[in-house]
Amino acid sequence: MPEGPSVRKFQLLTSPFVGQVVAKVGGSSRKINVNDLNALRLQDSPVRLILHFESGGFLVFYNCRMHWCSSPRADPASDILSMEFHRGRALDALRAPNPISYTLLDQRYFSGLGNIIKNEILYLTKIHPLTQGSLLAPSDLERLLDCALQFSSDWLHHKLRGQGLHPQIYQREQCPLGHPVMKGTFGPLGAFKRLTWWCPQCQPEVLPGEGDPSPVTE
Ligand SMILES: [Zn+2]
Repeated sequence: MPEGPSVRKFQLLTSPFVGQVVAKVGGSSRKINVNDLNALRLQDSPVRLILHFESGGFLVFYNCRMHWCSSPRADPASDILSMEFHRGRALDALRAPNPISYTLLDQRYFSGLGNIIKNEILYLTKIHPLTQGSLLAPSDLERLLDCALQFSSDWLHHKLRGQGLHPQIYQREQCPLGHPVMKGTFGPLGAFKRLTWWCPQCQPEVLPGEGDPSPVTE
């Protein structure tokens, strides 16, 4: 699952060709006959292939998998990079009695929020990935949501400037404060499990009945 900022960067780069007709096709694919793309109009920015347009411009897709499909449309209310993102709906989802890291990857509420963003924002807000959302204070949930939106937007702007991401916890052995990082594979029963990194010192787990869920400060 690509992260939202990667998809949005792709969309911004390809959007100038939306509405144009494919004049010539290059490249090859075992899945589809690429010549069937000839004379089609680019309706939306798709996610090897070379499409030449009537304007003289062209688009090259490297290492992509191709298959015909209907046009999926993401709901902007759940798109973390959309101005129409529905904050109230997201907060309702976060306060459910489920591990917070599972809810963050639920694309019905957080479309575009992938595993890297999940790990990073939980570290930045000092929340343990398995803490149930219902045990977190409303202010913590607001802070987590703010962090998700800000992190995604910052990452997109870095990408557009050609700058890489420097994760603080994702695939790290130590957190920025020098604590050893834990790694586990977490996910809902019967669903896809994702590798998760966290710092047990910076992100203490809040267990039911512990009362005050205030994070530990350094
Ligand atoms: Zn730490």
